[in-house]
Amino acid sequence: MSEAWSPRVTRVLAPNPSPLTLEGTNTYVVAEPDAGSAVVIDPGPADEGHALAVVSACAGRDVELVLLTHTHVDHAEGARAFAERVGAPLAALAPGWATPDAPGLATGDPVAAAGLELRPLPTPGHAADHCCFLLAAERAVFTGDHVLGRGTTVVEWPGGDMAAYLTSLELVRDLRPERLYPGHGPLVLDAIARVEGYLAHRRDREAQVLAALAAGDRTPAEVVARVYAEVDPALHPAAELSVRAHLAKLVREGRVAATDGGERFHPV
Ligand SMILES: [Zn+2]
Repeated sequence: MSEAWSPRVTRVLAPNPSPLTLEGTNTYVVAEPDAGSAVVIDPGPADEGHALAVVSACAGRDVELVLLTHTHVDHAEGARAFAERVGAPLAALAPGWATPDAPGLATGDPVAAAGLELRPLPTPGHAADHCCFLLAAERAVFTGDHVLGRGTTVVEWPGGDMAAYLTSLELVRDLRPERLYPGHGPLVLDAIARVEGYLAHRRDREAQVLAALAAGDRTPAEVVARVYAEVDPALHPAAELSVRAHLAKLVREGRVAATDGGERFHPV
């Protein structure tokens, strides 16, 4: 299912809906309207029907470049095969993923393709190799799983890094974007308010974790039982990984001490 979200940006929805991927992964076809080629961001899962839908959304234009926001399977599983199919370089921050002819993303130097410029924004947090892309022509950011179209994203210990995540949110906010093209969910038009909301949500959660420790909780499971009391217990294991990500940040900041090999935590 493909849908024009701006004159430059077409969203192709992948058929992989789930609680974490919402309606599915958003694959984007990006080009200046008069360009003879296109950029594809996040080819998505390995799914033949989806790959064909992305090619057809390119409307006869060659794919000049394939970009990855990060290498989680819902974004990247089909990326190598898609890049090979269309004969385009594949660029990603993650080591071992980029093809030799792809532009590097780590320096943040703008990438020119399909008649426009995309600026890589390394944004670790959700994943260490996460990279957003700024489309200056629209003051828009392709946010991958850094900011979603609805709800909040997952920052799970040990793959995710909460301190890096907050810094990366501030980086996107400080660009003063006017719209966000998320990896899942609908187009975001209140971009700055959305990112501020994400920052506030994490600050609230951190305060709750500190309050739980002050009230005597010592293990991540005890903190979860208190902080996520209203949440379905089936989600508590996932919540525990998020609490551990908060605790790791607090330990690094010297505000919490860890003992028993990182299984018990105390206020400092
Ligand atoms: Zn995702």
